[in-house]
Amino acid sequence: MTVGTATVDAGLIKRPMLAEVVANRALTPHLRRITLTGAEIDRFGHDGPDQLVRIFLAPAPGAELHLPDSAQWWPALQAMPAERRPVVRNYTARRLDVGRRELDIDFVLHGDAGPASAWALRAAPGDPIGVLSDGAAYAPPADTDWQLLVGDETAMPAITAAVEALPPQARAIALIEVGSAEDEIEVRTPPGVTLTWLHRGGAPAGGSDVVIRTLRDLALPAGTPYAFVAGESAMVTTVRRHLCAERGIAKERVYFGGYWKRAAH
Ligand SMILES: Cc1cc2nc3c(=O)[nH]c(=O)nc-3n(C[C@H](O)[C@H](O)[C@H](O)COP(=O)(O)OP(=O)(O)OC[C@H]3O[C@@H](n4cnc5c(N)ncnc54)[C@H](O)[C@@H]3O)c2cc1C
Repeated sequence: MTVGTATVDAGLIKRPMLAEVVANRALTPHLRRITLTGAEIDRFGHDGPDQLVRIFLAPAPGAELHLPDSAQWWPALQAMPAERRPVVRNYTARRLDVGRRELDIDFVLHGDAGPASAWALRAAPGDPIGVLSDGAAYAPPADTDWQLLVGDETAMPAITAAVEALPPQARAIALIEVGSAEDEIEVRTPPGVTLTWLHRGGAPAGGSDVVIRTLRDLALPAGTPYAFVAGESAMVTTVRRHLCAERGIAKERVYFGGYWKRAAH
């Protein structure tokens, strides 16, 4: 994640804050980069490249957005009447520019069934949204010799931010599953990083085994690893089993994040 040059205010805000859309730009046919701004974004907080952003959307398109006004946002949210209660979803801060008070979030478009995807498709400058910074999980221990970063397009913001922040001497293998070549984006990869795009080839998101097939054939480097695996839950569980049970990587050297769950078919 890019963090602007201005100093972050020590008083970080840990309750939902109001922001608005500045720009909505298509990075690929299925990915929108939405730039947000807000008076308090300079106090958003930055814990790592997979910085979790809870987003708060109006309960229905065109409805007013009301935010739980408390650091104890979850009970406050539950206490709101249903017709005022915002929709909450989890996203990643792809770029935080403290000086400009800007926050970029990359939204995967997966149709209108999901309120967040539907919102991202139509979001226009001035549209309101609530955002809350809620920690990060990516944490390679100091003794890490090489990293394995695996995910689908929902983890692409976290993985690409992590890759771009690696020092030149770091060694990493990144595998990112996307629909097809048109879903790939530009990534600045340091010299020690191999980034491979894996295509689902017509299979729906969450319906391909391309990640596990690739991993099974992959020769892993010697040395002490750290792995970050995120994306559709079933894929993540399969990869977890492979890395820990079949490859013998210690559980505490791996982060697994089920970012979304494919509906049963
Ligand atoms: C820590 C964390 C960070 C995340 N970061 C990002 C991010 O930066 N960008 C991002 O796009 N997503 C990210 N996600 C995933 C995102 O939260 C989910 O995809 C979420 O379900 C989208 O909400 P929605 O309202 O669009 O759909 P929902 O209302 O949650 O789901 C509606 C339907 O859509 C399906 N669905 C949900 N997501 C997808 C998908 N990606 N592809 C296909 N079908 C889907 C569900 O199975 C369900 O049937 C992150 C999740 C976590 C936990």
